[in-house]
Formats: sequence, structure tokens, C-alpha cells
Amino acid sequence: VSLLEAQMLSDLSVASGGNTAALVAGLRAYFRSGATVELSWRRRQLNQLRKMLSENESRFIQALGEDLHKAPQEAYLTEIAFLYADIEHTLKHLKRWVRPRKVSSPLLTQPANSYIQPEPLGVVLIIGAWNYPLQLLLSPLVPAIAAGNCAVVKPSELAPSISQLIAELLPRYLDHDAFACVEGAAAETSKLLEQRWDHIMYTGGARVGRIVMAAAVEHLTPVTLELGGKSPCIVADDADIELAARRIAWGKFTNAGQTCIAPDYVLCTRHTADLLVPAIQQAVTKMFGEDPQKSSDYGRIVNSRHTLRLADLLSGGDVIYGGEVDADNRYIAPTLMRCVDLEASVMQDEIFGPILPVVELDDFGKVEGFVNQREKPLALYIFTKSDSLAERILSSCSSGNACVNDCMMFMLAQDLPFGGVGASGMGCYHGEHGFKTFSHYKAVMKRKNILDVNLRYAPYSKRKFSL
Ligand code: NAD
Repeated sequence: VSLLEAQMLSDLSVASGGNTAALVAGLRAYFRSGATVELSWRRRQLNQLRKMLSENESRFIQALGEDLHKAPQEAYLTEIAFLYADIEHTLKHLKRWVRPRKVSSPLLTQPANSYIQPEPLGVVLIIGAWNYPLQLLLSPLVPAIAAGNCAVVKPSELAPSISQLIAELLPRYLDHDAFACVEGAAAETSKLLEQRWDHIMYTGGARVGRIVMAAAVEHLTPVTLELGGKSPCIVADDADIELAARRIAWGKFTNAGQTCIAPDYVLCTRHTADLLVPAIQQAVTKMFGEDPQKSSDYGRIVNSRHTLRLADLLSGGDVIYGGEVDADNRYIAPTLMRCVDLEASVMQDEIFGPILPVVELDDFGKVEGFVNQREKPLALYIFTKSDSLAERILSSCSSGNACVNDCMMFMLAQDLPFGGVGASGMGCYHGEHGFKTFSHYKAVMKRKNILDVNLRYAPYSKRKFSL
């Protein structure tokens, strides 16, 4: 496309927020044309998405820096490289995923062929969050395309640079008859939610999750809700403390703690806390220096509302490390807290920032009870050298995802589903799990005309059924 055409398409995409019904009708008409069912079309779109990323890498990295002060390497690894891997994996396995799967046909139905045929759902809506504004918007788009759907993506208004960039680039690279980007906040999203969609995937907090689900009820639209919650990080007395500290510090302070699967708080005995806390301090200093505010690798809080919210949480216990707040620059230091009040907001609400409370248990045996008294978390972390202890906790605590002896790394395994359970969400994606989310698995039986046993037809006589 020429630059002029591209600009027109981009304008069209942005303006489409004004006429949402017409936009969706257009996408639906295109879907009905059957173009998106072709495997070659799906592959082309996925290749184009990859091209969009690779040809604009530096612009995406700059936009992530503007929105969240993400260091270029972090932006590349946690957002761009993540998407490359996603697309690569999907292209590699797509042929197998779309194939009909033969299943057996019972004797009474013979002769027949039975199979499961994945088919696209239609026109889907993907609503993104601001903390990984590129990855969390496009990673669901990859399986939506792979499954043969049309889609509207709605980036988060709280990451405006990424939102504008996607709105500009998406129509230049993808088939604009099938995909659109609608920018905006609550008002624009509400308009989108009034439409009939064939699936809605929402990533964000539970409050808006409820709004999304309520809107979906109107049209009986299935939803995937990728929510959050307080993800516990259990550190047993036998854990490798130094390694655990490094991995927990990385999981918690990457993106200034604004990660849905970041460890929310640590659960351990007083003995372990006494060893772990200085080890985490050391790990933080190694990563971000004595003054993390001067580090180009340490992020900022997305906006001043969230900065003030986080600053308020510091009153819920003893700040034993960090705690510095520079509200004007949306900076909160990597912070450790002890002696936290379990009734305070810091232990009641998801923290979603660089504050790590360390909760001490007088008896480690109560660890499962502590976790199970609360909502089911999105992630559960266990640091221990004992397989049987890990197994015990894994089998008695429900969570969306779990990781033993590390934080967040399960995200890299394309074959693992990613999603919440209970209050942390419903449905999942990544790899084939995402393809399944955006597909309908149609049950098909093809019968032959050569045999027709008359047992099932009325009149039912005693001769047919001896009941
Ligand atoms: P949010 O819920 O406020 O916003 C998410 C999206 O909803 C945005 O696109 C926004 O424009 C839209 N929105 C906001 N208000 C709306 C309204 N009234 N009506 C309709 N749409 C509206 O995002 P947040 O709560 O700040 O995000 C943080 C939460 O998201 C945390 O709980 C975090 O754990 C969770 N999260 C989960 C994942 C995951 O993959 N499970 C990833 C990132 C964040």
C-alpha cells in the first residue's frame, strides 16, 4: 500500500470508534465471504503481523519507553520477542491444529465417519491492558487470526503511545477488511460492548471484567477473562535462598511490579524471612544499583493515580527497604515490607506495583490454609528443594498457573495454557489453547446410505425392544 492509502486506512481505523455498528457489520460481511477460512490467508496475516513488528521494532520500543519507561531490552524480551515466538509457534503448528480429528462411531451408527472440525467463530473483540500493552493485545490476536476470525482490537488508553502506534500500523499490514483497531477508554469500549461479537477476550481488572461479562450476556457471547489477583510466593525453609531472592526480585520488580503474574506477597517462616529479605535487597541493588531511580532499567508507574494508590499501600506495615515515592515522576522504589496488617489494603487488594510484603507464618504447615482462605490466584509460586512439599502445595491449592522454584517463566512454554481460575479469570490462551479459544469444535457425523436398521423407527413393538 502507498503511504497515502496507509494514512487513509489508519484514519478509517481510528474514526471507526464513531460508527461501531457499521464497522462490525463490515467485518461480519467479510467473514461471511469465507476469505478468512483459507489457511493461506491466515498464514499471510500472521506473517504480516510479524513484519509489522520487525519493520517497526525501534518505534515499538520507543513507545513502550514513553508509556512505561521500559528499558529497550526489557521491552524487546517481554513484549516483542514474546510475540515473535508466539507467531513462530503458531505458523509451525497451524496445519495440524486446523485438521479435522477423526473419532470412533458406535456400532448403531455404522457405517459412518465421525470427526471434529475446528471452525472459526466469526468476529471477535480483544480488549487489552496497559501493563504489557503490545503483548497483551497482539498475543490474543495471533490465535484469533490462526483460527480464521475477523477481529477488533482495543488497546488500553493508559498506554497512549502504543495505542496510537498500533492504530496506525495495524491497517497498513493486516487485511483491513478483517481487522480494525479502535482506540479509546471506557466510553468507546462500552460502545464496542453493545455490539454482537462471537467471542470477547478481555485482559484487565475484575471490575471491568464484570462489565464485559454483563454486556456479553445480552448476546450470549462467550468470554475469556484474563484477570489478576494476589499471587502468593511461598518460600520454604529448605529453599535455595539466594537463587529464590534473585528470581523473586526479578519477578516482582520487572516493569515496576506491574505484571499480572508478579509475586504479590511472600509467605514464609520468620527464620526464612530473616535470610530472604537481605538477599532480595542485594538482588535489587545488583539489578538497579543503589538508587533505582537513576537506573535506566527500572520502570515507572503507569500514571499518577496508580502512583498515589501504591503510595497509600505503604501504611499497611513496616517498610524495611525502599519506600521512596516521587509522585511527580511516577516513581516508587523497589520496596520490601514486614509486619503487614492482613486487613490493610496492601494484603487485601492486588498490589500491581513494586511493593513486596513478606508475611511470616508461625507454623509453615498453615501455608495452604492461608492461600485457600483467599480468592484463587492467577499464579502460585513455591520455592523449595522438596518435590513432595511442592506436590503437597500444588495438589491442595488451586491457581490459574503455578511455578516451582521460579517466577513467571511458565509464560515461555507455548504448550502450557495461560489463564486464571475463579476470581483470577476464565478461559485461557497461548499456543493451541488460544487456537481452541477462538475456534468452535464442530462435531460432524457423515453417514452412508447403504444400511438403515429400522429398530429406531416407530411403531415400537415388543419385538423391537424387550423392556
Ligand atoms: P482496566 O481493567 O482498568 O482496563 C482494561 C481495559 O478495560 C482497558 O482497555 C480499558 O479501556 C477498558 N475499560 C476501562 N474501564 C472500562 C469501563 N468502564 N467499561 C468498559 N471498558 C473499560 O485495567 P486495570 O484494572 O488497570 O489492569 C490491571 C489489572 O489487570 C490487574 O488486576 C492485573 O492483574 C490484570 N491483568 C491481567 C492480565 C492477565 O493476562 N491475566 C494481564 C495484565 C493485567
